[in-house]
Amino acid sequence: MTAPAALPPTPRADVVVVGGGIVGLATAHAVARTGRSVVVLEREHRLAAHQTGNNSNVIHSGLYYAPGGAKARLAVAGCAETVAFCRAHDLPHRVTGKLVVATGPEELPRMAELARRGKANGVEAHELDAEGMRVHEPHVRGIAALYVPSTGVCDYGRIAETLGVLVVKEGGEVHTGRAVTGIARRRADVVVRTDTGDVLGRQVVVCGGLRSDELARAAGADPGVRIVPFRGEYAGFSESAAELVKGLIYPVPDPAFPFLGVHATRGIDGHVHAGPNAVLALAREGYSWGAVKPKELLGSLAYSGTIVLARKHWRYGLGEVRRSLSPKAMVRRIQRMLPEVRVEDLSPAGAGVRAQAVRPDGSLVDDFLFVEQGSGDGAILHVLNAPSPAATAALPIGREILERLTGEKLGPLS
Ligand SMILES: Cc1cc2nc3c(=O)[nH]c(=O)nc-3n(C[C@H](O)[C@H](O)[C@H](O)COP(=O)(O)OP(=O)(O)OC[C@H]3O[C@@H](n4cnc5c(N)ncnc54)[C@H](O)[C@@H]3O)c2cc1C
Repeated sequence: MTAPAALPPTPRADVVVVGGGIVGLATAHAVARTGRSVVVLEREHRLAAHQTGNNSNVIHSGLYYAPGGAKARLAVAGCAETVAFCRAHDLPHRVTGKLVVATGPEELPRMAELARRGKANGVEAHELDAEGMRVHEPHVRGIAALYVPSTGVCDYGRIAETLGVLVVKEGGEVHTGRAVTGIARRRADVVVRTDTGDVLGRQVVVCGGLRSDELARAAGADPGVRIVPFRGEYAGFSESAAELVKGLIYPVPDPAFPFLGVHATRGIDGHVHAGPNAVLALAREGYSWGAVKPKELLGSLAYSGTIVLARKHWRYGLGEVRRSLSPKAMVRRIQRMLPEVRVEDLSPAGAGVRAQAVRPDGSLVDDFLFVEQGSGDGAILHVLNAPSPAATAALPIGREILERLTGEKLGPLS
């Protein structure tokens, strides 16, 4: 009789990162820089398949965010670091500067508040009149604008892939096509269950984007919020309409929402797109009206936070649905800032889905949200709200997570 073959030992790492978006990969990169072992587990067959690969690709300056908050601090640092990272790794990027345009007098107090926030956050911003804004964007219409020189564009999908390559170069492992199905804390480590076997981590970071609340619950944590998926759809400009836009043209945002409003962006490939709007997605990864998962939709609709939100903002929500379904309604929004754009200039150009954390009382979590289970060996850190500008801020977010987990402080890449 032969003895049964011994099972291979369960792979283990100092840190296991769940999620191969830009936040997970930036975290893994920070961990690998310290010499610790790290394993990234991504359920899709490629990195950056969700928010990171389907966004506006804008390098945000840090203008909008409440002074003193994590978004303000990490976006300002991330803006400079993203540009430096792209330069160092020869990745496409351009610092174009952007205009935030007020189209009516009722928007001026909100624009003044943005200028105040920018100043408090240390972001350079210049107040311009109608003539001054047309020096930057000759086809724009408005009564006043803020010009922010440090805003730029890049390709976050490529940045995430590059981070993945660096993690592997520094001795880490990146597994795609490996879905995490459960997370169990033990006394001195954490068992991460996947569809192809367990991985042990002394510590675990969960950066699951649209699934982050589910993963927190799977680990036995109370996330205190639910992720409500808001789709943002884009419209591409025709070649002739693209000539109307040199860089980035934004409206003054509605302070009731953490969304920046439909803007026109010239991407690094030279194409111009407008968007994103914000409509409730009918599935967590609901990239179109046809992508419906009844159980997930019911989960969103039955949640007290969504119900309160819908009651309070139904008019805004209906407007967004109308603009999603009617190109004429969408073009009217763009014409406020760019009157020469015609409906025939626009064509559908994809969508992204925002993972927005909503509290049971219907308030949208504005700042980044991290929830920690335990400390030291056996700890889990959940990234529960990392919407825009988390792509811009990913490099400093990764270092901040490392510090929270291990106490080790790293400087930016030189
Ligand atoms: C429409 C839109 C426009 C935006 N524009 C900008 C912008 O211009 N500038 C900016 O800075 N930010 C922007 N953002 C925000 C930015 O994209 C996000 O903040 C950022 O990508 C978040 O990264 P992440 O890694 O947390 O999430 P994600 O990129 O969503 O990554 C999460 C990953 O977790 C994986 N995952 C989920 N469940 C599991 C599981 N069970 N097992 C294993 N893996 C799992 C997913 O497959 C996914 O790859 C925008 C977002 C959207 C949607």
